[in-house]
Amino acid sequence: MSQLYAPTLKEDPAEAELASHRLLLRAGMIRKTAAGLYSYLPLAWRSIRKIEAVIRDEMEGIGAQEMMVPILTPAELWHESGRWDAYGPELMRISDRHGREFALGPTHEETFTDLVKNELRSYKQLPCTLYQIQDKFRDEMRPRFGLMRGREFIMKDAYSFSATQESLQECYEQEKAAYARIAERCGIYALPVVADSGQIGGDTSVEFMALADSGEAELVYCDCGFAADVEAAATKVPVTEGPGDGTLEKVHTPGLGTIEAVADFFGFPENGTRKSLALVAEDGTNVVAIVPGDHELNEIKASKLFGAYHLMTDEELELAGLHKGFIGPVGLPEGIRLVCDESLRESQSWTCGANEVDYHFTGAKPGRDFTVDEWADLVSVKEGDPCPHCGAALKSARGIEISQVFQLGTKYSESMGATFADEDGVERPFLMGCYGIGVSRTLAAVVEQHNDEHGISWPVCVAPYEVEVVPLAVNDDVVTPVAERVVYELSAADLEVLLDDRKERPGVKFADADLIGIPYQVILGKRGVANGMAEVKVRESGERFDVPMAELVSWLT
Ligand code: ATP
Ligand code: MG
Ligand code: MG
Ligand code: MG
Repeated sequence: MSQLYAPTLKEDPAEAELASHRLLLRAGMIRKTAAGLYSYLPLAWRSIRKIEAVIRDEMEGIGAQEMMVPILTPAELWHESGRWDAYGPELMRISDRHGREFALGPTHEETFTDLVKNELRSYKQLPCTLYQIQDKFRDEMRPRFGLMRGREFIMKDAYSFSATQESLQECYEQEKAAYARIAERCGIYALPVVADSGQIGGDTSVEFMALADSGEAELVYCDCGFAADVEAAATKVPVTEGPGDGTLEKVHTPGLGTIEAVADFFGFPENGTRKSLALVAEDGTNVVAIVPGDHELNEIKASKLFGAYHLMTDEELELAGLHKGFIGPVGLPEGIRLVCDESLRESQSWTCGANEVDYHFTGAKPGRDFTVDEWADLVSVKEGDPCPHCGAALKSARGIEISQVFQLGTKYSESMGATFADEDGVERPFLMGCYGIGVSRTLAAVVEQHNDEHGISWPVCVAPYEVEVVPLAVNDDVVTPVAERVVYELSAADLEVLLDDRKERPGVKFADADLIGIPYQVILGKRGVANGMAEVKVRESGERFDVPMAELVSWLT
């Protein structure tokens, strides 16, 4: 430790609200370089490498192959998939000296799809799952909480390519099971939460949520295994009013504004990707609703409530050429109303825009329209509500999204023309899955679940070292040689050992040992050593054991 680069802090850093942020800074494990950009110091890096080792082991177990693609991704690939515009400001864009545009990869569906496009030619080569562990870049609106939400962070991302839906399902289930094991092996208690339910039951996307009061996601869960984001939970709870079975019809309505302009006007929360959901339904008149926020959830809400919706893409918004502040009574078909707070409805003589450039959809049948408050009630689920699986009262918790598995289907392979020849020689687009784990966020989540008032308490599997040897006297004829021998013997038994050889008072050493949180502390005092005894302190429980020096190795292994 006299040479270790782990500058510990005595005081809590003012900017750190979360335990993981505060303790990783205090334990000298991370340092901030700029907003959302962190350096991993030697102790943190050892833990990161252990998390990665767990991931590699599990990936190998299911036959996924590790590789590496460039972090820089050419704009052309994003244009092919349509995401250059759709991704919005979170995509970090740069250009080279010739003015060619690139993005720093926030995720790599495009790169991997392009990679296999002309190489995986036949169904005989499928399925194939490729993955990498790499820095990702996202210009987060609010980078915060240290490693939790960075602008540069470490992610393991895997992509599977299948010939059939059954094969995709199998790849997906394998990754999902591996993700559950990875969380467990890293010492994290996580719940798999359905992020998206499939057409025919079952799930097509699951997020693993590490339970922690500091988590950004609000969850409900049940002992029977059901767990859901409070908002997405609406998909599991029948909505009795609202949806109809109308068929949509596209109606040409030239000169209309955009739905987004209306969202701005009413001060809906800022929407990261600039996507707004426009709902048009008909019950004699048109009813238009705007759902701000996460569009995946919105689709769920929308389909539940109205049975029909149209999601505006950035491109459509762009094409409409209308922007913030645009609002007004502009040639709307009569009877268009926005679902919003009643008081606003009364007080404003406003109108709203098109859900697609110059078009509206009509024909969906809602029972009625909803106020904002009613809406919130309908689409959220609370603690104590009956579990949709077993009827028991739901419990609530908060969670940190550490990983997500996703069935992409042909979304990227189709738009990017990535096909293979099936058994009959017919070219078909790959069925793809993508699977991401936030490696650096996982480290933070471990700390959120394993800390106390004294510091971090690492689970052995991801601890920077397994044992810390703490001699209470340095340059001491008796203690020093014993400490060195203990380090030698423990290391020889394949334990990772950190020796606190600093000339510090015992109080300082104890405080730092608890702060850094190595799982086992071997404390060597003068009197104990003279009697051939060491004291072993278990960091997590605080239990102390007097162990004869000769039994230390067997005690600790
Ligand atoms: P969030 O909902 O927290 O913004 P996400 O759903 O956008 O995350 P994914 O695209 O699913 O993230 O990426 C896979 C994993 O990468 C996430 O489950 C998370 O663990 C991690 N991750 C995503 N964004 C960040 C970030 N800004 N900083 C650190 N880790 C992140
Ligand atoms: Mg995100
Ligand atoms: Mg998410
Ligand atoms: Mg996610």
